[in-house]
Amino acid sequence: MNLPPPPHRCPPSPYERACLMAWHIKSTKIPGKIIILDPKPNIAPIGEGYRAAFEELYPDIITHVPNAAIKEVDPFNKRIKTTAGDFEFDDAVLMPPHQAADMIWYADLIGTGPDGKPTGWADIHPRLFTANTDEDVYVVGDAMGFISDQFGHYPKSAHVANAVGKIVAQNIAERVAGKEVVAVLPDNLCYMMVNGDPQEEISVKFEYELDPTGKVLQTQIDMDVRTSDLVADDFNWIKSRFNDFL
Ligand SMILES: Cc1cc2nc3c(=O)[nH]c(=O)nc-3n(C[C@H](O)[C@H](O)[C@H](O)COP(=O)(O)OP(=O)(O)OC[C@H]3O[C@@H](n4cnc5c(N)ncnc54)[C@H](O)[C@@H]3O)c2cc1C
Repeated sequence: MNLPPPPHRCPPSPYERACLMAWHIKSTKIPGKIIILDPKPNIAPIGEGYRAAFEELYPDIITHVPNAAIKEVDPFNKRIKTTAGDFEFDDAVLMPPHQAADMIWYADLIGTGPDGKPTGWADIHPRLFTANTDEDVYVVGDAMGFISDQFGHYPKSAHVANAVGKIVAQNIAERVAGKEVVAVLPDNLCYMMVNGDPQEEISVKFEYELDPTGKVLQTQIDMDVRTSDLVADDFNWIKSRFNDFL
């Protein structure tokens, strides 16, 4: 399996998928291996937690290959060429580069990079979530584009989509009431299951603040030690999200 180049949806989720497939291979004694082709130089985010899971739980099953950007896939002969060498496979999970959905392209909301090419993501105000070409259009969720030169994009997660949805609702209410819109920033929290028996998870938290120039800054807190307590926290997290709809 490969990882797309960043930014992509739910940055830690491909490693979680690898762990759960490896757990299935291990627990059902399938003579299989998983090679993770990662275009990044390191496992990220939660590099230490995933490295420990790969090496301690699945040492004979998972191999992580860094700096392995895909150059060519031959699905008929089941070969893949990468910047870290060539590989053969029996089955492959292939993820192309991600981009915003067609709706954002049709609405002409895609940004342009310094090279003049489309960025693939919506061009938005980094603190107010309005489209830079039309302040009456708001963009929420994975489609949101560049936010800060410190970290690039907000993590493309349901937690961020949910948080920004609420913030945008508040911003619109303030505008309608003729009040000044106060910039509110989201946070992010992701839990990743790395072991099925016992169930154990690792986690990553992101906090955001504005610097005096108005730039959005990110602090990342990795929870690398896998525990069952984090599984309980995860279930509480998802219950609290579902309760939003009640
Ligand atoms: C394997 C995996 C694991 C993940 N784990 C987590 C996690 O643990 N925690 C977390 O917070 N996030 C997680 N995520 C990320 C999360 O799923 C996304 O970030 C989130 O769903 C983004 O919400 P969204 O509303 O922006 O987009 P989406 O959920 O993709 O919703 C967009 C919707 O718009 C619809 N649509 C598109 N075009 C049109 C159109 N033209 N007309 C009508 N409808 C249209 C689509 O069908 C879709 O239903 C994970 C993602 C993956 C892939």
